[in-house]
Amino acid sequence: MRVRKIFLGKVVLAIVSLVFIVLLWKTDVTVELPGSNWEKLSVDRNRYGDGKNADGSFFFDAWKFLFEHGKCVSSLKYWTVTANFTMNDVLDKLKIAYNTWNPSVGNKAIVSENNQKLPDDVLEVIVIPHSHNDPGWKKTYQQYYEDQTRQILSLIVEKLHEYPDMTFIWVESCFLDTWWANQTADTQQKFRSLVKSGRLEITSGMWVAPDEASPHYFALLDQMIEGHYWVKKNLGVVPESSLNFDQFGYSTTMPYLVKKAGLKNVLIKRIHRAVKELFGSENKLNFHWRQLWDPDGKDDIFAHVDTYEWMSISDSCGPNREICNKLDFLNERDLPMADAPKAPAPPGARVNAGSRNMHAFTQMLVEQFRLKNANYKYKVMMLPHGGDFRYDTPFEWDKQYRNLKRFMKYVNDNTKLYNVKMRFGTLKDYFYEIERQNMKYDIKYPTVTGDFFTYTENTEYWTGYFTTRQFDKRLGREVLESLRAAEMFTSLAFTCDIPSDVRKEMIAGLVIARKNLGIFQHHDAITGTSQEHVAKDYEELLTIAFSKTQRVLSLALECLLKPTRKSFNNLSPMLRRTVHNALTLKVPIPVPHSETKLVLINSLTQNRLELVTLPVHSSNISIYNHLNNEIEIDIVSNKNGLYDISFIAEFPPLSMLTYTLKQGAKNRAQSVEGQLARDGRFSFDTAGDIKGSYFCENDILNVTFSKLTGSPVMLCYKKRNFCFNLQLDWRHYTSFGGAYSMISNGNNQQINSKHSSVKFVSGRLFCGVEITHDVFSYSISLTNTNSAIGRALRVNILSDLLSMPNFVGDLAMRVVSNINSNGTFFVDSNGFQMMGRKYRTNIPFDGNVYPMSSMSILEDSKRRLVVHSAQPHGVISSGPGVIDFMIDRIATRPEMDMPEPVKDNKPTLTSFYIELLSSDEFEHSATHETTLPTINSIYLNDLLQHPVYGFYAEGSLEGTATVQSFLKTQLSCDVILANVKNLAYSGNNVSDGTSLTLFRRAAGCHGNVQDLYCPVTSNIDVRPGSLLKFPGVKHVNIREMYISLLMEKESLTSHQSVDLYPMDIKTFQFTFE
Ligand SMILES: [Zn+2]
Repeated sequence: MRVRKIFLGKVVLAIVSLVFIVLLWKTDVTVELPGSNWEKLSVDRNRYGDGKNADGSFFFDAWKFLFEHGKCVSSLKYWTVTANFTMNDVLDKLKIAYNTWNPSVGNKAIVSENNQKLPDDVLEVIVIPHSHNDPGWKKTYQQYYEDQTRQILSLIVEKLHEYPDMTFIWVESCFLDTWWANQTADTQQKFRSLVKSGRLEITSGMWVAPDEASPHYFALLDQMIEGHYWVKKNLGVVPESSLNFDQFGYSTTMPYLVKKAGLKNVLIKRIHRAVKELFGSENKLNFHWRQLWDPDGKDDIFAHVDTYEWMSISDSCGPNREICNKLDFLNERDLPMADAPKAPAPPGARVNAGSRNMHAFTQMLVEQFRLKNANYKYKVMMLPHGGDFRYDTPFEWDKQYRNLKRFMKYVNDNTKLYNVKMRFGTLKDYFYEIERQNMKYDIKYPTVTGDFFTYTENTEYWTGYFTTRQFDKRLGREVLESLRAAEMFTSLAFTCDIPSDVRKEMIAGLVIARKNLGIFQHHDAITGTSQEHVAKDYEELLTIAFSKTQRVLSLALECLLKPTRKSFNNLSPMLRRTVHNALTLKVPIPVPHSETKLVLINSLTQNRLELVTLPVHSSNISIYNHLNNEIEIDIVSNKNGLYDISFIAEFPPLSMLTYTLKQGAKNRAQSVEGQLARDGRFSFDTAGDIKGSYFCENDILNVTFSKLTGSPVMLCYKKRNFCFNLQLDWRHYTSFGGAYSMISNGNNQQINSKHSSVKFVSGRLFCGVEITHDVFSYSISLTNTNSAIGRALRVNILSDLLSMPNFVGDLAMRVVSNINSNGTFFVDSNGFQMMGRKYRTNIPFDGNVYPMSSMSILEDSKRRLVVHSAQPHGVISSGPGVIDFMIDRIATRPEMDMPEPVKDNKPTLTSFYIELLSSDEFEHSATHETTLPTINSIYLNDLLQHPVYGFYAEGSLEGTATVQSFLKTQLSCDVILANVKNLAYSGNNVSDGTSLTLFRRAAGCHGNVQDLYCPVTSNIDVRPGSLLKFPGVKHVNIREMYISLLMEKESLTSHQSVDLYPMDIKTFQFTFE
């Protein structure tokens, strides 16, 4: 392959191309592509013999497409909005009138005179004492535990025994786990009995209360299983409701997962202020939350939006913060012991909120209760009583209890006067009472589809946190990817004969990694909204988790390479994290005189072609596959004085491949080196020849780059004779927000490219450009394979905002296309589904930024742009064909009592795939509510989320050279192993087996029928017992569970098939004999 620099002889071609570019910007025309000098790389299928495993089963059948045209079951035409309204409808009509409201006073009452009252006029008020424990924010997880949470949990046991009518609720399992390990059996039993009695309710029970904007569903599910499994094992109960007081907006994926886990209700609080006011005025703060693909509402979950802004006592009783704070007895004088009401105050008399007059005090609060309750259809009200790390001293417990009791007794003694009854209760009691009244009064609620982004605190949009601390967001995703692979290969290896010390180390490593990844999903962790020293703590936790999972993987692979192995510690991971605040290192692979063995793994349950790049010390290296055939490689020198060897690895589904690296370059390796020596690495700076274009292509795509900027200009699909205009532009948003908010009002300017250098790079296996700016550098490359990665551009960005003096705000990558998207764009929700978004002028600019976890789409009837990301970003499309991805930010304003600005940025690596589709390849969305990715896009996204990992051993490695797949039967490409977990925990070497979660994605129907890189079956016949090869296992017991293992659904035989409809997600628990 050679780079096509345009010399004099090709001037005509250059002019013709430029005319095309101009033409294509305006219209779609059929073009003749510039010619290609690329050497075609054919995948040598003979390398893997007959594609069968030793036992004769098939592992690789890439070209056998099982998709039956016309039987596509997940078309958008089956996605009908049956909800009463969608959140897009609500946002379209939203009128924001902040000037009528003064945030310092408190909350608006949110009432409408039209609210219908129920005949029974007595209002039941359920007081729910609680304590919100952030696993890190201003303090680290451990500091909070030591300083407050440990005491809070111990006091729950002590004080609920002392006060037999008092109740409490608890959310985060991570703290329970830490506390539990330090308690006596007696205390544990007391805690358990409180839970069983119903006075202490575990609500949510997940590992943390996760952020819902940035996490990938794998991590959401993983921390849910981790928490729920803990609750079930140690407390023997099943949480019924999900309590979400503090997340800054809510996704629609989370209530679906919660419903699939078997929970019945979900409570949310922090939604857009104007939406809450509107819902309150229309009595819509309760609704059945419906998914777009669920027209019958079988997976609806009952949702409750709690009124007012904060979870603290100030916002618990009604709109007036000053009055509600009177119920925070910690800082108030004790209420008098009052048996009977004092005489009512004369009409017109001024009620003093501070008065110890119980009647006036009660009247004042009851008025607030009524205002709060007027937002709802029933006559029951929850009065959450607590807040951040409350109830952390015996003094507070005693004082709050004593006064709440006095107040409640007074109210209940005078129910006729106030028409209010009060009692302690839990969230379960509250939802139970709602359900009772629903039946009694036949109360109906609307169905709603959509999510609750974006969130406003006061008048500001909390959309900055979608991007804050990108380094941590990326690191969190690296841990997720590595943990998933480690769980998967461990579940296979655990069925081998492993020495107990190795097994113990593997379990301990997985447990630490799960817990640390779980904690990072917390709503002040992945969000980037903690203090700097806490962010450092998260980085350290993630660094440990990453190293542990890579170590576990190396041990698992050693077992799988030779199940009867006695000696371990031969394999080392290629990826290494040494310090918390630096990028993950690719270790240069040592190649001694003997040789080095390389083991690569594919944790994806699909075959794949992947460009693998290894740093080595010498260019004089050759690589041999397991059949001892030398393979083609590209060698280029890198800026660390090392060499990068690249080669194409062809993986069966869920597999490992072995290679051998040897010194000396014979055969093809030598010729590549020779060619490089002659031609050099083709490069030039823009200071020289800046006119014209540079072409780069493979069998599928031809990409034209601008020499001036290095940006792509045009992408042409050769087979389809279809071209797109595409440009990357780099913007600086001057935002004055803090960790949470984005305050840019849309002010952004192009980043000056004067000081940038552009370098064109090409090898046999890839080509592209490398561009260096002041604050960031990036590469755009195209792999020379006929595969999913060969039809997309890979963009890697290394940003270092601190390197530019006085940079404040957001760095954004702008993708400019000729797609007439008309303000509508689609952004994924937790990597699970696509949400229709719109740029709305009735909402301030910064309120139009949405969270992206893994995919964004722009489309019109003719073209579609898909941008896949390897980490979360804020994203906005403010004009047709244009979409901005926030890459990183420096946020200087202190917010939320946080004294520090966020400027602890580190050099951060961001990866995207950019894919373009023509009209016959995708199903155009007509709804604006959602769109469906094609199966190829789903597959490409999977490739990005599940990277290949490499391990090496110097010298020989015990075990056979191999290509080994651990999948028994081919899995349709739309089905993925969404989670795998070894149900074994440290200190308890007894395993409950393995859990496996399958998720079937919905793919658009068009585009499935040609150029498929991944097989799809329309008739999904999933047999969980026949999926994985567990070496050495005679018999497997399989049970279908609710997705977080809280309850069993049914037992399956080992060959039983299960239904798995598009967007269905199911968990199975395997135990082995
Ligand atoms: Zn919180």
